Amino acid sequence: MTLFLYVAVFIFGTIIGSFLNVLILRRGTGRSVVKDRSACWTCGKMLRWYELVPIVSYGVLRGKCARCKASVSPQYPIVEFLTGTLFTLGAWSMIDMFFLPVWGIVSLALLLAVIISLSVMMTVYDIRHTIIPNAWVYIFAVSSLVYTAVSHLATYGTFVQWSVWDMMAGPILAIPFAALWFFSKGKAMGLGDAKLALGIGWLLGLMEGLSAIILGFWIGAIISVGLISMHKAKGLFGTGKRFTMKSEIPFGPFLLLGMFVVFFFHIQALYLFV
Ligand SMILES: [Zn+2]
Repeated sequence: MTLFLYVAVFIFGTIIGSFLNVLILRRGTGRSVVKDRSACWTCGKMLRWYELVPIVSYGVLRGKCARCKASVSPQYPIVEFLTGTLFTLGAWSMIDMFFLPVWGIVSLALLLAVIISLSVMMTVYDIRHTIIPNAWVYIFAVSSLVYTAVSHLATYGTFVQWSVWDMMAGPILAIPFAALWFFSKGKAMGLGDAKLALGIGWLLGLMEGLSAIILGFWIGAIISVGLISMHKAKGLFGTGKRFTMKSEIPFGPFLLLGMFVVFFFHIQALYLFV
């Protein structure tokens, strides 16, 4: 029964993921997300329903358009798989919330779906453009704050347990990033990373938020070294970008990875020192 639930959530997540691809790729192109049907970017061929099945279609068509054989970006199946996986982990993390009132469970599930979806969108957008759209990161931050508020209210029936530190966690974690952005004139850190840290702090609280950021730095450092040493790497998602010491490596994805590692598995980076 539980396995069936996880499979269903995964499939639902991949469908959301294929919609997120549309949101990411059509941003700034003027194409409607709702009205315009999906078509091949090279020859304009409208995609049929069986060419729109998440992950599966990409595999069956071997990553090529059925008509013009132009290669389809691996971003499609990667985002679908990633979203499916995060949704499944999200469902798994909610298992011990069964004692909460139904309105609490439903609101937390919806908020978590929004937080995961925006995280995937910001990750891909940051990798492609090394910038995070303001609207996305603000909705992410507000959703995180509301998530914590609802979680407290649903668990304790009052906001009394919601400490000032929980509320201040967002701004406290964002300030160092904003300072780095300010004093390096935007070279060391984008302001988007500060806004991201705001949401991460609100979602996880001060100690876990700090863990998430430390983990993000570690993972980022390891992967950056790896990318730079693989000089011939073709770049992520076929963007053709090559990584050198000079290239701007987006930091947002690592912060978000750190956030999910702590959110799902409660790994405390700070305890590793003690
Ligand atoms: Zn085509």
